[in-house]
Amino acid sequence: MSEKKADLTMEALASLCKRRGFIFQSSEIYGGINGFWDYGPLGVELKRNIKNAWWRAMVQDREDIVGLDSSIIMHPRVWEASGHASGFTDPMVDCKKCKGRWRADQLPETKCPQGGPHEFTEARMFNLMFETNVGPVKDASALAYLRPETAQGIFVQFGNILAIARQKVPFGIAQIGKAFRNEINPRNYTFRSREFEQMELEFFVKPGTDAQWHEYWVAERMKWYTTIGLPAEHLHQYVYKKEELAHYASACVDVMYDFPFGTQELEGIAARGDFDLRRHQEFSGKSMDYFDPETKEKFVPHVVEPSAGVDRIALALLCEAYREEWVPTEEVAGAQVLPAEPGKQPPQGFEARTVMRFAPSVAPVKVAVFPLLKNKPELVEKGRKVFDLLRKRWPAFWDATGAIGRRYRRQDEIGTPYGITIDFQTLEDDTVTLRDRDTMQQIRLKIGELAAKLEETL
Ligand code: ATP
Repeated sequence: MSEKKADLTMEALASLCKRRGFIFQSSEIYGGINGFWDYGPLGVELKRNIKNAWWRAMVQDREDIVGLDSSIIMHPRVWEASGHASGFTDPMVDCKKCKGRWRADQLPETKCPQGGPHEFTEARMFNLMFETNVGPVKDASALAYLRPETAQGIFVQFGNILAIARQKVPFGIAQIGKAFRNEINPRNYTFRSREFEQMELEFFVKPGTDAQWHEYWVAERMKWYTTIGLPAEHLHQYVYKKEELAHYASACVDVMYDFPFGTQELEGIAARGDFDLRRHQEFSGKSMDYFDPETKEKFVPHVVEPSAGVDRIALALLCEAYREEWVPTEEVAGAQVLPAEPGKQPPQGFEARTVMRFAPSVAPVKVAVFPLLKNKPELVEKGRKVFDLLRKRWPAFWDATGAIGRRYRRQDEIGTPYGITIDFQTLEDDTVTLRDRDTMQQIRLKIGELAAKLEETL
């Protein structure tokens, strides 16, 4: 793990996320609710950028994958067929003294708050699906579940999509949506939540080609993470051993990221054979056969499933982007930016800044526009013109108040890649300054050249 990561505390990150409007505790005014989070004005943009990047790469840029948006509550038989009703359980233990509850494989190392060690109960199985009732009568026939994954929505619509999508195996169906798991012990900020979003692809292949397609998707998905700004050196693969695989799976690789709290899963990529389609065929009585027009063979397709979590990716991007730095002031203009040393003051001529070094493609705001002085109507009017021009293309932010240095810092903290200042020279020759978030270098260019310049990186 890099030094930067080890230094970053989740408290510092959570504090910035709350202060700047990335992430809030759900229902905070009532004391919060464990395992649920709200994404503020910037968080929602970050998540949207992740989902758009995924959708573009998986659906829009390809001819062999189509999309779906299935319902969260489905027929309860779906979960019997999938195995979730009987098998989606974690062993759970309670402490008899403090009433704390943990997964049996994730016991706390801390002492019991009631004194002495915890006194654990025997492990009991705990189903992770949230239950609800459909309709006015609350009896067994009305029982339904909030989906614990989006994948089953895809499997149960396989037949309908096959009939209309004019696709031939190999092809895929992709879906982004909420999933719910009553996790025994939500933790590590948003990493393990009870409500989260998944981005899942079911890629249907000819039996016998599973291994080659699995390998293909592992490589594709690893590449994708680098395009949104997670560097390869912080990404890892965990390859499941034979004995760790589900009985129907032939291979599984987890994509892992170096979080400050350890190297943890962002995505699982599994070759699931024909398990899911075959189970639904059995439980629904509807055929899941595919007829291959070339070989004239009939078969139930096998599936390769890359399944990623939006919230975990957002958290990884936040961890990756967060930097505390010492940056040169006018006094030592041109000096190198230094990494801040925890607990120390910056040296003479430097000042501290917190900056989110998001890749431009995922940054919530792409460009901020600042009129040098807010009480000079000519500057403000000119500034608004530039702002209106840019915001048609990119999410842009207008900030007219405070010292210009402070306005830059505010944008640094939310990771805006570019800042544009309208000053008195602008009024004379129609040029503005363009400031780069990372290098803090400024260049002067014509307003007419701005869009093309920004286009190069945004
Ligand atoms: P874990 O072992 O961490 O509980 P899992 O292996 O059960 O996860 P999958 O069922 O493979 O997870 O789900 C696919 C993806 O959905 C995960 O890689 C993760 O990104 C996301 N995900 C699963 N559970 C949660 C959760 N409780 N909070 C946030 N994201 C989750």
